[in-house]
Amino acid sequence: MDLMQILKDGLSDSPFSDSLGDRSQYIGASDVAGCPRKAVLTKLDAPEHDLGTLIKFARGHLTELMLIAGLKKHSKSLPKWKHQYEAKSKMRKHIKAHLDFLFTSKNVLAVLEVKSVDGIPADPYEGWVQQVHMQMGLVKEEYPDKAVKGAIFAIDLNQGEARLFNGYQYDGQIYEGLLQKAESIWKTLNDQANPNYDTEKGPLCAWCHYRPDCPAYKANEAIPEMPFEKELNEYRGLKEQGKTLEAEIKKLKAFLKSGIKNANPDDKKVRVGEEEIKIGIWKRSSINSQKLQTEYPDVYEDCLKTASYEVLRV
Ligand code: SF4
Repeated sequence: MDLMQILKDGLSDSPFSDSLGDRSQYIGASDVAGCPRKAVLTKLDAPEHDLGTLIKFARGHLTELMLIAGLKKHSKSLPKWKHQYEAKSKMRKHIKAHLDFLFTSKNVLAVLEVKSVDGIPADPYEGWVQQVHMQMGLVKEEYPDKAVKGAIFAIDLNQGEARLFNGYQYDGQIYEGLLQKAESIWKTLNDQANPNYDTEKGPLCAWCHYRPDCPAYKANEAIPEMPFEKELNEYRGLKEQGKTLEAEIKKLKAFLKSGIKNANPDDKKVRVGEEEIKIGIWKRSSINSQKLQTEYPDVYEDCLKTASYEVLRV
């Protein structure tokens, strides 16, 4: 019984999978939010989704269902809302978007894009913001007399965290720029005799199926280049913060321990409010490997085990 295959088949056929129709027939908001070359190649030759990708699609779907359950509970006090609303450009029928949620009231329409993530970023990614601007633009085309605003709701199911990035407004200039990008992607898709593959490097290049022969990167480089500058800076900053935190923890630990020893040298425990804190003694046995190697080299060789593990070095 191949459970992996069973799971994959279940996710492929169920309503959990990507269900936005034949994406080669239109340009969607997520296409303009990312790299044009990737958008075109994905439409020309869609990669088969592996199990990991299918699970992520399902996770996104589940996140929306959770929100729908809450929205239904509050339906009396909320504006009317639609799930997976299709917004189309009036003049360009090949440009459309599937909005996760559209809230409608008399004078205002609000787009809500839901992102299911591993770790919520401090600021929304540029691509998310572009996607919402594209969606707001398409809605504004349909309802020119109404105010259109947008928000992004990032939800991390693993960590149990959620954050709302709010306050986006329809912007005609941004929308015009995104429409031009959409038209350029559409032209490349339909003019394969003379394609113009614009590229946009970004962190998602690491997961791009078309990375190996991407012209944005030097071919056959001994060490491949990746656009991780922002992430690397964040990583370094957090490592530094981690060192400071560790030093603070060590200092407080020493303070608490000396206080306990001073107040209750025999039992070595004290009460702090409702909590009890104490100093415990744990025993740990270890082998003196230097002695073993010197005095019993055969036993040492016999017991020696080498394991490898990953480290990240900058
Ligand atoms: S590797 Fe990056 S730049 Fe190249 S096609 Fe993929 S997403 Fe675009």
